[in-house]
Amino acid sequence: EKAQIGVTGLAVMGRNLARNFARHGHTVALHNRSYGRTKELVEEYGHEGSFIPSESAEDFVASLERPRRVVIMVKAGKATDAVIDEFAPLLEKGDMLIDAGNAHFADTRRREAALKEMGLHFVGTGVSGGEEGALHGPSIMPGGSKESYESLGPLLEDISAKVDGEPCCVHVGPDGAGHFVKMVHNGIEYADMQLIAEAYDLLRSVGGHSPAEIAEIFKGWNEGRLGSYLIEITAEVLKQTDAETGKPFVDIVVDQAEQKGTGRWTVQAALDLGVPVSGIAESVFARALSGDPKVRAAAANLPGPSATAGAGGDNLQADVEQALFASKIVAYAQGFQQIQAASAEYGWDIDPGAMAKIWRDGCIIRAKFLDFIKQAFDKTPDLPSLLVDDYFLDAVSGAQEAWRRVVATAAQQGIPAPGFASALAYYDGLRAKRLPAALIQGQRDFFGAHTYRRVDKDGSFHTMWGADRNEVTA
Ligand code: NDP
Repeated sequence: EKAQIGVTGLAVMGRNLARNFARHGHTVALHNRSYGRTKELVEEYGHEGSFIPSESAEDFVASLERPRRVVIMVKAGKATDAVIDEFAPLLEKGDMLIDAGNAHFADTRRREAALKEMGLHFVGTGVSGGEEGALHGPSIMPGGSKESYESLGPLLEDISAKVDGEPCCVHVGPDGAGHFVKMVHNGIEYADMQLIAEAYDLLRSVGGHSPAEIAEIFKGWNEGRLGSYLIEITAEVLKQTDAETGKPFVDIVVDQAEQKGTGRWTVQAALDLGVPVSGIAESVFARALSGDPKVRAAAANLPGPSATAGAGGDNLQADVEQALFASKIVAYAQGFQQIQAASAEYGWDIDPGAMAKIWRDGCIIRAKFLDFIKQAFDKTPDLPSLLVDDYFLDAVSGAQEAWRRVVATAAQQGIPAPGFASALAYYDGLRAKRLPAALIQGQRDFFGAHTYRRVDKDGSFHTMWGADRNEVTA
């Protein structure tokens, strides 16, 4: 018997994906650079399904039915290239190499183009949900050719998370589209986490609530429109008490947030595309600020506000919920705009509503409100911004007074809330009838003769700033 699918790279993610395939009745070929992991998987989980372990890449390839489907789940970067270089010569026309690691989409585009020349399908695939997701049903975002999805899609849909029986897996688009969308998913995840952290900080510093009390507040919010995996686990983390000291767990952890880089990639890609993902950027920068103890120590005595002007008022809790929801909508609006911009730039033809649909379960940002995002794009596929969809417009306009109070309170009391504040600035920027960008155009024309357009007639113009200040047609 031959295997329907193979997995090479059997650390925690690869092992769990392989087990997931096997638990769904597929025969799974197994391979890892060092044989120890392969042996261990079969010894510990062999009873869960049908596995064909191989020590050599040649035997592994030979154990697969054609066209071969080889999932690569190794450390992203050089390791992925090493594995591709090892396997590509062993494969035949029409076979598929599926990179399920967290690759940068530009690497995926490069690899796809190179393997296409050899007649192979390279499928860069986003997989979200961590190790639990990999085992029990992740959200899966495959790129690559349509043809490869016809052969591979059913297997991926099989092991993905399901919402009302519908798989959290869809063909995202060609070449690097899958990894791009996974990257933006992670960027949105950064923003979501930052906003939740700011909400906690305000409830604690302004509201005077204990972590345990805030855990209860989050639990309550999780029952409402904010209902999501991240809100749920936040309540669990806040509830936790350190066994050794009896202190709240959140107080014994060093306050320096780390990152593996996908948030940074999202912002870098957004800069290249010219899409303002300020919410994601603030969250990446907030982690960077937290992680710089030297500058923080040097700045620790910078003066704060003289008096903590009044507390946040009786409605603090409700206000923060509104600010959190509105800011979250902004972060998602920005992330989806980035997906739409990349789709246009690279000709990916991504259906944004389908992305919202496959993020409803299995992944870290799974949330109730993704249903509304899906509906918004179903209704208007080329929606210019989520903020102008009826549901989100209502939510944000309903939230805005509270949102402004929260941002003002944070500023008055000296509590950093870059996520809330920049989301609000973005909202006000988008809705502004006139922006001071006109003045910037004037400055640019003054020092660099960069020209400007007029509101009242067509063409480009330049003012002779250094001479008679008369306007000329540029
Ligand atoms: P790691 O990222 O820790 O990678 C370990 C695996 O890579 C091992 O199988 C290792 O083989 C193999 N490897 C490393 N270098 C090479 C090389 N030069 N040649 C061949 N194989 C090599 O494993 P994870 O399971 O944590 O993650 C796998 C991928 O999944 C990564 O790209 C990660 O970014 C992504 N991912 C991880 C998530 C998570 O929650 N951990 C979530 C979503 C995606 P050996 O055993 O021989 O050392």
